Amino acid sequence: MKKIFFVTGTDTGVGKTYVTAVLAVLLKASGRRVGVMKPIQCGGDDAGRLAEAVGVNDDPEVICPYALAEPVSPHLALARQKIKFDLSKIQKACQILQEKYEIVLVEGAGGLLAPLQDNYFMADLARDLGSEVIVVSRPGLGTINHTLLTVSQARSFGLTVRGVVFNAADRQKKGLPEKTNAEAVARMGRVAVLGTVPYLPRLKRGDILRKRPALNLTTLLRTPFRRSAAGLDKKFVWHPFTQMRDWLEDEPLMIASAQGSYLYDVQGRRYLDGVSSLWVNVHGHRRPEIDAAVGEQLRRVAHSTLLGLGNIPAAKLAAELIKIAPAGLAKVFYSDSGSTAVEVALKMAYQYWQNIGHPKKRQIVHLANSYHGDTLGSVSVGGIDLFHRVYRELVFPTRQLDFGDGYRAPRGKKYPDYFWECVDGTEAVFRRDHGRIAALIVEPLVQGAAGMIVWPPGVLRRLAGLCAKYGVLLIADEVATGFGRTGTMFACQQEKVTPDILCLAKGITGGYLPLAATLTTQKIFDGFLFDYQAQKTFFHGHTYTGNPLACAAALANLKIFKEEKTLAKLQPKIRFLTRGLRAFMALQHVGHIRQRGFMAGIELVENRETKKPFAWERRVGVAVCRRARERGVILRPLGNVIVLLPPLTISQDELRELLEVTYWAIEQVVIE
Ligand SMILES: *Cc1c(COP(=O)(O)O)cnc(C)c1O
Repeated sequence: MKKIFFVTGTDTGVGKTYVTAVLAVLLKASGRRVGVMKPIQCGGDDAGRLAEAVGVNDDPEVICPYALAEPVSPHLALARQKIKFDLSKIQKACQILQEKYEIVLVEGAGGLLAPLQDNYFMADLARDLGSEVIVVSRPGLGTINHTLLTVSQARSFGLTVRGVVFNAADRQKKGLPEKTNAEAVARMGRVAVLGTVPYLPRLKRGDILRKRPALNLTTLLRTPFRRSAAGLDKKFVWHPFTQMRDWLEDEPLMIASAQGSYLYDVQGRRYLDGVSSLWVNVHGHRRPEIDAAVGEQLRRVAHSTLLGLGNIPAAKLAAELIKIAPAGLAKVFYSDSGSTAVEVALKMAYQYWQNIGHPKKRQIVHLANSYHGDTLGSVSVGGIDLFHRVYRELVFPTRQLDFGDGYRAPRGKKYPDYFWECVDGTEAVFRRDHGRIAALIVEPLVQGAAGMIVWPPGVLRRLAGLCAKYGVLLIADEVATGFGRTGTMFACQQEKVTPDILCLAKGITGGYLPLAATLTTQKIFDGFLFDYQAQKTFFHGHTYTGNPLACAAALANLKIFKEEKTLAKLQPKIRFLTRGLRAFMALQHVGHIRQRGFMAGIELVENRETKKPFAWERRVGVAVCRRARERGVILRPLGNVIVLLPPLTISQDELRELLEVTYWAIEQVVIE
């Protein structure tokens, strides 16, 4: 098992170099292959002294990629020498050592919050190297405070603290603190104390071996829980939308942490999050603003119920949602997933007509290829046979309208005309049956789960017009398209449509916590205001409805949109994605490319001329995503459609990486 330990200190000058050398020498003496590095050194030559004491002769540029001249904080030393910090330089050096050694000890500079850049600290480096942390501390008075602060800070960065080593930097006699602090730190910090390094006048291998400090190497090398998590997963977890027989045959990829557009697995390997963790992430992972908002709310109250009580974040968020939603929406009903947002919408629409005295308006109409979630109510309005067929007998009857997919028109039809014919067909149905129809539910502009079907401009507006004309409620399911995905905050806004009911989930918390909202108009809300005895209350609610932590995350998510001008910054990246996707037509098995904003689908076909699909059993989409993973990109397909749906904050370079790896993966698979 390969291991990287990041040696940090409670302060500068506590003896990190000594402890790193001692650990390396002892581990070597126990028969391990051990390498050392000091990625950044500011003045002096600790790296050289360390290498010499441990007895390694790796390239000095590998042991110390950033040897800076001045003894000041790394961010300042870098700035004064006009050197741009490049994480990959350190990662590459570490990689070289990892290939050669079983264990790599990385000595940090200063403490965990010593900055390398304004927004990047030693703790970030420790995480990005996939390392676990060893804290070096002094034994005397004041160390409980400093050590516990460092341990808790490490944990707040998601780091595992392997242990604390005390270093007696001088010959002082042991007082009461020195004798009792180790035990106190272990108990109060819930952390292993590996031992104390006695005073060593010189940093020499011979001296270390002679003194043989009693450090607990067994504890240091114990396999931490997260490395065995894959075993627990296979033993106990049933995964969604997954043939578990396949899953059990594979080694599962276990995610341990994330940063920005990247996910990190338990081995510290990095993956670009090409589908925003199933379409939810908006501003990247570990956004300080959202982290802080959730943390602050956590210190007030994690959850209180909306059944009979209100809470501050839920109230504030409702106001903010109404502010940004299409004009005319006035009320917010919370739940916790896209499916429940849709359930709420369906029940609301149905009951509305019952409540106001139109008992015949009971039918729910949906479109072909629709997807609105996996609970039975939302499956009832689903039009994707593969997902929905098994449950046909369990669902309530609805009416499905023919609708185009933009690629394979029925015999004798063509696009985009066929879309408009379907809209005309919708009008015919409404004209005849509107007296029995309660609502039409649609995914505006992009039918996501069907494989990113993109509507031509104007279709949504026409459908909304028909709903208004025939007294059919329009339910817009913006669970996927909401929060900037299509280039505007909501897809409806591109066609100046205000639905009667709007369903939101996925991106609402920036991808942090499960939360959903069903928004509606004053008119519909008023359709539920009666005497209690009339029994026309909206009888719906989930236990965690309006959860304060989730609402706090959502508020922070919306604030970033405003402060960072996310949507304005997105526009050039949408164009970059469009240009990048065009190149895919050079691949002979790419049949159709669909994109709206930051939602894209690449449909792979066996024959481009006839549009003959690959047989589903061949699982071409899955195979492509598997290849992409080898090159550090996470994708999840929809059948034969490769989906690209990155965080809105992805950089242009990262977007290029996403496109290049996807292109390569398609090329690999269809060549096979
Ligand atoms: C994902 C999705 C849903 C379901 O959301 P869950 O949170 O998975 O229940 C509903 N509608 C649309 C359009 C979706 O994309």
